[in-house]
Amino acid sequence: MRTLVVIFSLAVMLSGGIYAFLRYAPDRFDPFAPLDIAEAPSFLTAWKLQSLKGDPSACFAALDAAGISYAAMPDRETGEGCGFENAARLQDKEKLPGTGGLPMTCPMIAALAVWERHDLQPAAQSLLGTRVNRIEHFGSYACRNVNNAASGRRSEHARANALDVAGFRLEDGREVSVLRDWGNGGAEGAFLRQVHEAACGRFASVFGPDYNTAHANHFHFDMGGFGLCR
Ligand SMILES: [Zn+2]
Repeated sequence: MRTLVVIFSLAVMLSGGIYAFLRYAPDRFDPFAPLDIAEAPSFLTAWKLQSLKGDPSACFAALDAAGISYAAMPDRETGEGCGFENAARLQDKEKLPGTGGLPMTCPMIAALAVWERHDLQPAAQSLLGTRVNRIEHFGSYACRNVNNAASGRRSEHARANALDVAGFRLEDGREVSVLRDWGNGGAEGAFLRQVHEAACGRFASVFGPDYNTAHANHFHFDMGGFGLCR
């Protein structure tokens, strides 16, 4: 009987704690609050980004709230296993410089925006003493298979659900290249490794130069379902 009373009391205390946490904690710690791209990320951010995949209206609302400019694209098939669904063409010259005109799924844009604001720019400030002026890339959409293979699985690029980042142009004119600077023991190399690792907490899958030679010159980011970080 005494054990039951103890278990019951603990259960009451635990549920009271959970209630108080959900009721009074800031939104970034509330799993039911919508993703706020501007807010400092928490341990829930990756989960909130992944949940946007099943909730296009919440996803576009998050882009709107963050003031990201885009032109929504109608859903359409462009080939076997290729096409656009809940995608938009980025038009943002300020928040995501260098990505103008790129078609991407909404969750990709949201993850990219969180990464740019909370990982990329702070790393550039602390390690290179400047800001990133432009994200250099090899594109987002391509109707093709994984690794450009003649057969096999379609790439996440076939659904505009991926982006290949080749490097960065900095505000002071310097350029950081994945191909040239990944193995660099100085600040540029440290910067690349830091933003690569941070990307693993934002995107579903991340591949870089350590994964294979096909990725020697870029970081591959996607919002597919594998959860790989290499
Ligand atoms: Zn890629």
